[in-house]
Amino acid sequence: MVDDPLSILRSVFGYESFRGPQRDIIDHVIAGGDALVLMPTGGGKSLCYQVPALCRSGVAVVVSPLIALMQDQVEALRQLGVKAAAINSTISFGAVVEIERAMRAGEIDLVYVAPERLLQPAFLDNLARCPLALFAIDEAHCVSQWGHDFRPEYLQLATLADRFPGVPRVALTATADGPTRREIVERLHLTDGAQFISGFDRPNIRYRIGLKDNPKAQLLRFIREEHPGDSGIIYCLSRNKVEETAGWLREQGLEALAYHAGLDKHVRAANQSKFLREEGLIMVATIAFGMGIDKPDVRFVAHLDLPKSLEAYYQETGRAGRDGLPSDAWMVYGLQDVAKVRQMIEGSEAPDEIKAIERRKLNALLGFCETARCRRQVLLEYFADTCEPCGNCDTCLEPVETFDGTQVTQKALSAIYRTGQRYGSGHVIDVLRGTETERTRSLGHQRLPTWGVGADLGKDQWQSVLRQLVALGHVVVDVEGHGALRLSPEVRPILRGEQPVLLRKDPAARSRAAKGERR
Ligand code: ADP
Ligand code: ZN
Repeated sequence: MVDDPLSILRSVFGYESFRGPQRDIIDHVIAGGDALVLMPTGGGKSLCYQVPALCRSGVAVVVSPLIALMQDQVEALRQLGVKAAAINSTISFGAVVEIERAMRAGEIDLVYVAPERLLQPAFLDNLARCPLALFAIDEAHCVSQWGHDFRPEYLQLATLADRFPGVPRVALTATADGPTRREIVERLHLTDGAQFISGFDRPNIRYRIGLKDNPKAQLLRFIREEHPGDSGIIYCLSRNKVEETAGWLREQGLEALAYHAGLDKHVRAANQSKFLREEGLIMVATIAFGMGIDKPDVRFVAHLDLPKSLEAYYQETGRAGRDGLPSDAWMVYGLQDVAKVRQMIEGSEAPDEIKAIERRKLNALLGFCETARCRRQVLLEYFADTCEPCGNCDTCLEPVETFDGTQVTQKALSAIYRTGQRYGSGHVIDVLRGTETERTRSLGHQRLPTWGVGADLGKDQWQSVLRQLVALGHVVVDVEGHGALRLSPEVRPILRGEQPVLLRKDPAARSRAAKGERR
């Protein structure tokens, strides 16, 4: 017999109504459909399989890689009167035999099982003798070979589709960008399933990204003017920079702590607990800080260096405003940062396939930094979620005008090409603007046809153009050549005038806004 989901929600779980897409997902699974569910942590994924587990007859099998969490879930369900059990390496043989018997007899609603255990032939044989309600595959991103949580056993979960056709399967995860999502669908054979993606928006976070010009001063002004006495996190790329920034903030009279993996573990733990316990502290940290940090009143997250990807940016900025009150995600970046991240990618030992993925991730991040659209829209689209222009990000609050930058781009590309693709942005801009320096003289670059063709734009504007061209992938920062700019192979149509280039206008206003100045 199939019970009504809403009455299960109320009578068993004690909640009044479903949240967001829960109802749609639950109806879909109860009707026997497969599904991929993407929701951020805390979004309410568990009910999406727990309610169908109780509505459908038979036992629901929940695959979970995290034994500790498994135990908690089972305990919580038992408190609610649900017949739940866990099977993993900590359960005795005798207990497993009893659970398996109860499963066959239909005396268990939900069984949580570690993937390696599920895949054992004996376990699968037993499953074949059980009435099955559904399979739930939690932390489904573990199937991704390029992710941090890759679990080889997850790849074999595809066999469930072949062995138990007709039993609905629902895969759930909080972290999945486009490529990971496609990988999950493919590897778990979910091509015929529905995808439910939602809840990634953090409406109380205001996103702002400015040009780096004097980062410390920009940061100090931001904190003093907008967040005096507030708790906040400042992310830096290196341990040195963390130390240096924290020290400098203290000299300015702010209460700043440092956190990175190079610190003694007692110091680290002490700083962390101080930050969690006390109000108004600023934590300057590498990305080592943050896993499992649940401090509700973090009012700002600032990035002095580019995060690794849009996903990392979302995770890191997501530590602001857990209490739902207005909070800021603030970042400054410049062309040098792009070069630095590129260098880290190219210089790593990783295989080419992984480097290619990291390059794509960086490009998505740069596209976000340089966008003229609502930042929240761009961010959410990365997670396949959507929203209206939000009115709570810098591009919404101070709309960025775009212009046809085809000609400007052609000038820049030509200057890079004619100087031999050997120089960084500074020299290229000198050539474009016709600014004499010792270098332009000694290289004879003043005789180039591109000399001075860009005198109508200021230095800042050219910086912006070059940064955008890098973000768009038309220009490549050569890491071997100390930040030398090179043309990407695909610029020919632009040079021939066959492909228009849309650029953002007026970067100077944005940098003033980032500094907190008014015009
Ligand atoms: P996730 O697994 O996505 O991180 P959980 O399933 O643990 O999230 O749910 C997060 C919290 O939200 C839990 O405390 C859960 O009880 C609560 N919750 C989920 N759905 C509802 C709902 N429809 N009504 C009220 N609370 C809910
Ligand atoms: Zn917006």
